[in-house]
Amino acid sequence: MDESAARSLVALCQDLHRNGWVANHDGNVSVRLADGTALASPTAVSKRDVRPEMLVTVDGEGKVVGGSRRVFSEIALHRAVWRARPDVRWVVHAHPPYATAWACSGEEFWASPFLAEAVVSLGDRIPLVATRLPGSDTGGLEAAIAGADAVLLGNHGVLTVGPDAETALLRMELVEHLARIAALARPLGGPLPLPAEHVAKLLEARRKAGLGPGGATTSMNTASPAAASSATDVAALVQDALRRLG
Ligand SMILES: [Zn+2]
Repeated sequence: MDESAARSLVALCQDLHRNGWVANHDGNVSVRLADGTALASPTAVSKRDVRPEMLVTVDGEGKVVGGSRRVFSEIALHRAVWRARPDVRWVVHAHPPYATAWACSGEEFWASPFLAEAVVSLGDRIPLVATRLPGSDTGGLEAAIAGADAVLLGNHGVLTVGPDAETALLRMELVEHLARIAALARPLGGPLPLPAEHVAKLLEARRKAGLGPGGATTSMNTASPAAASSATDVAALVQDALRRLG
């Protein structure tokens, strides 16, 4: 077993629980390893209680090839990501309350972005994928995650990806933070959307920084983990993009 990946996976599970983004046995995490297998959280265990010896190894089809426990039934979601995004290593799925509330309401709270930094970090869409019964077609997710690093799952929760555990976790944190702000702003009249020309400049800055699907800093082959988006100075990118608007 890749002990460093196992330690990161356990820490991530505990972060999901500590942050209140999962209840009961909710949520699951996987990380793809260099040999084509993936390490995954076990089913039927609170994320608070996950330990390295409980992790399972699965092959590309999601079949358990190592470990003494069963893998979670939502492995199909992770397999859909593996097909769509050969560049990502980490897949995190949780039910953070605010983002899940929007997902259950069938509404994309980020369709009109309202905070500049988040456009650089996550782009101008956090797509909502319609509900699918567990184990059924995951084509919608596959298409959505091909163009985004975070997706809302209708009547279900949130899925984020990243080149490393920290980035995948920070993306989950940012999605939930934005969802909470959108919910708090709604009774006040709703957040005012950023002007379209600002969003265009911010997306340009995001592209230039190599962030987002297909960007240099999300590649599994990235030589330096420091190049990951979590280490990028997003505030500086925003200032630069908005300065160029004159
Ligand atoms: Zn779930």
